[in-house]
Amino acid sequence: MKKITVVGAGNVGAATAQRIAEKQLAEEIVLIDIIEGVPQGKALDIWESAPIEQFDTKISGTNNYKDTVNSNLVVITAGQPRKPGMTRDDLLFTNAKIVKSITEKIVEYSPQAILIIVSNPLDVMTYTALKVSGFEKNRVIGMAGILDTARFRLFIADALKVSVNDVTAMVLGGHGDSMVPLIRYSNVGGISISELLPEQKINELVDRARSGGIEIVNHLKTGGAYYAPSAAAVEIADSIVKNRRRVLPCSAWLEGEYGLNNVYCGVPVVLGKNGIEKIVELELTADEQAALKKSADEVAENIEKLDL
Ligand code: NAD
Repeated sequence: MKKITVVGAGNVGAATAQRIAEKQLAEEIVLIDIIEGVPQGKALDIWESAPIEQFDTKISGTNNYKDTVNSNLVVITAGQPRKPGMTRDDLLFTNAKIVKSITEKIVEYSPQAILIIVSNPLDVMTYTALKVSGFEKNRVIGMAGILDTARFRLFIADALKVSVNDVTAMVLGGHGDSMVPLIRYSNVGGISISELLPEQKINELVDRARSGGIEIVNHLKTGGAYYAPSAAAVEIADSIVKNRRRVLPCSAWLEGEYGLNNVYCGVPVVLGKNGIEKIVELELTADEQAALKKSADEVAENIEKLDL
């Protein structure tokens, strides 16, 4: 891929740019932020690691959207992160304004781009980008499920003392607090986790994954998680750039899938060169369907609060 822009040169954005460079997913990366000097300084610092990390991707920082022109892929990480005691929804209005203004600029300079949204509250910010851009729904993707499942997979692997490589998990629904883990589809080397762990332990691991973000916020106190979130955003970018058609849980615009309409919600999707190539539909039990509906309803309620 020729050019990837990362919007927001904070913790998630800078780590995302670094990971994209180290994986050499683009010829050029542009890091953009409203704060003068920060994207320039961080981009140069990352670029100076190129001879050691051996990548040929050029990285530059800017405060001017002209420099982002003709980006093929844009990762939006700008916005405020949570502080202790805040929910993701507390960020709703502040970050919606930020994501709206950014999306308008991206549309102006890169009308063909695929957008990956990271800013919280995730599902509603992804909706904001879709609505403001007017892009096709396959080109506006929210990152959440990959992170939520990564946390769940790690906790399962750690509990069983097995490789994370062999742990597969599936999470549907909105990001974090309202995520819907599908235990039936979570397995270790093909063996259902229900056969390997008692129900109470599984519930504990689910709860820890569900509040994985706040666990980090409570440690850091001044900001949120960014190493795992940036890895998750770059996994989406990697599948798109290389047209790998990986099946990963992402927030996608639903029009009837899973019985849900006009809402962003985490579901398994196939990611390829056009963004979301396909939404994978699973048969759900009545309980799972009800939990998913509840999660989607919460997102829809917040979407309605926005005046876009
Ligand atoms: P941060 O404060 O370190 O960085 C945010 C950056 O955005 C700052 O540098 C700020 O100057 C910039 N910014 C603000 N307004 C801007 C604008 N209009 N244009 C360009 N840049 C602007 O925060 P962070 O830890 O990097 O988190 C960023 C966002 O990602 C937060 O909303 C956070 O909640 C979210 N997040 C989401 C997930 C997820 O799973 N989806 C995971 C982690 C973080």
